[in-house]
Amino acid sequence: MSTTPNRNFWNIEASHIAKNTYNPIRSIVENIVTEPNPNKLMIALSIGDPTTFGNLKPAREVIEAVKESIESGLFNGYAPSTGYQKAREAVAEYSSNEFVKVDPKDVILCSGCSCALDLCITALARPGQNILIPRPGFSIYRTLAEGLGIKVKSYNLLPEYGWEVNLDDLEAQIDENTAAIIINNPSNPCGSVFSRGHLADLLEIAARYYVPIIADEIYEHMVFPGRSFHPLASISVDVPILSCSGLTKRFLVPGWRMGWIIIHDRQNILDKEIRKGLQCLSQRIIGSNTIVQGALPAILQNTPQKFYDDVIETLYEHSRLAYSHISKIPGLKPIMPDGAMYMMVYINLACFTEFKSDLEFVQCMLMEESVFCLPGQCFDYPSYIRLVITVPKDMLVEACLRIQDFCERHHCKTSQTINELGRIEIEY
Ligand SMILES: *Cc1c(COP(=O)(O)O)cnc(C)c1O
Repeated sequence: MSTTPNRNFWNIEASHIAKNTYNPIRSIVENIVTEPNPNKLMIALSIGDPTTFGNLKPAREVIEAVKESIESGLFNGYAPSTGYQKAREAVAEYSSNEFVKVDPKDVILCSGCSCALDLCITALARPGQNILIPRPGFSIYRTLAEGLGIKVKSYNLLPEYGWEVNLDDLEAQIDENTAAIIINNPSNPCGSVFSRGHLADLLEIAARYYVPIIADEIYEHMVFPGRSFHPLASISVDVPILSCSGLTKRFLVPGWRMGWIIIHDRQNILDKEIRKGLQCLSQRIIGSNTIVQGALPAILQNTPQKFYDDVIETLYEHSRLAYSHISKIPGLKPIMPDGAMYMMVYINLACFTEFKSDLEFVQCMLMEESVFCLPGQCFDYPSYIRLVITVPKDMLVEACLRIQDFCERHHCKTSQTINELGRIEIEY
């Protein structure tokens, strides 16, 4: 018989962090009970995973590099928790440019970019402090922070200005408890790419309030012809930046879980505590996958430019195709992306009075057309849907046609026209 109070029966409660961890994409998507139309092949434009349909494959050089890494037998053990020196050197070289020279000691390898973001947020912010995140924005920032008891405050992006940050709003959100600003460029879900000038404006605000920046640059270099990607750190002189990236999106290998943090700190502001903090945190899970680390130098050096160019060409072609098609659909307004692999589409819900929200719109479209897009709600941005444009071209065309049918059928004005005339007439 137990004599310790409260230890005389099974009472196992989940921790605060477990209870407070919430992923809006997972919970919204998993709560959708609607079944797709059994007569139509399902087209999921929802999953931000470019490998789903097999049309986008990693470079052959990358596969070879991993094979060699395994066969060498050299990468089966534990690596240092921040990563093998050779792998960090390769990332440093890959991430250096005419403006910034990255030192391998400033690189921390992580298990995917999510883990990189987790380490940065955990190192910079204490419970009760806040971090600023973009709206619309990728939901993982909230998921990571709120679990830890860190508050999130959103700053708005402006769809009519290419999704640039509303600078006044950003500034207004900063308070004495703001531990970091997260900037995601190029953006998921917007597909937007910030200009040099705009990044300089963001840095000016961060500098004025002495707030460090976490730059989520997982879509670095994934920009369409005529646009340029500027690493935030290449513009900053004084603001400390933790830049997060990895192989996931550009190299089309999300499952490999290879990401990294690069500490950009020209004024040595992070040396006092944060650098050490990140190193200690990296020891919690003892680093990233060693097979991929072993392959990293070859992956980063041998991937031919043609591979990158082909992926961009496909994404650009798909964007233009979806944009021109969806532009003609009554009640919808797509916003042409400049990079990444997504397109945001505005739904004028006043034209679709039977749907009270983007979520209802998405659910009904799934049920009738077997086309599934994520509702804007998943990105804290109602009245929009997000399309993934990595699906094969013929599927994308088919999806656009079905979205068109769906909108014509449910649009208050066109459905009336259909009823009266027995055929569809859309006013563009
Ligand atoms: C996909 C994605 C990530 C996460 O990448 P992983 O390497 O798979 O963890 C981080 N940020 C954004 C904006 C993303 O879209």
